[in-house]
Amino acid sequence: MARPKRPVTVKLPSAAEAAARIEAMRRQTEDTTNYRTKSLKIHGPICAKCGREFDQANLQHLTVHHKDGNHNNNPADGSNWENLCSHCHDDEHSRDLLGDYLSK
Ligand SMILES: [Zn+2]
Ligand SMILES: [Zn+2]
Repeated sequence: MARPKRPVTVKLPSAAEAAARIEAMRRQTEDTTNYRTKSLKIHGPICAKCGREFDQANLQHLTVHHKDGNHNNNPADGSNWENLCSHCHDDEHSRDLLGDYLSK
């Protein structure tokens, strides 16, 4: 007697679930590019700290810093954004940590 083949059940997310996940991912990427584009438009492609200017070729090194540290706080007037080059951005955050450390 041949053993019946057991059907292999692979649990896949339902179509609706998958669509919701993709939509969430898409929205997240869109938000990120959106506030970055807006901040660059408002503050210009210049590092707020060292004054280094950026152009299309190296613009990816210019990042948007959230002054209050809250990435979800993105007012349209750009008041929570600061354009910082990756170096100054690192510096800004290590300073925060050091400040915390020293105030304890
Ligand atoms: Zn800089
Ligand atoms: Zn930052």
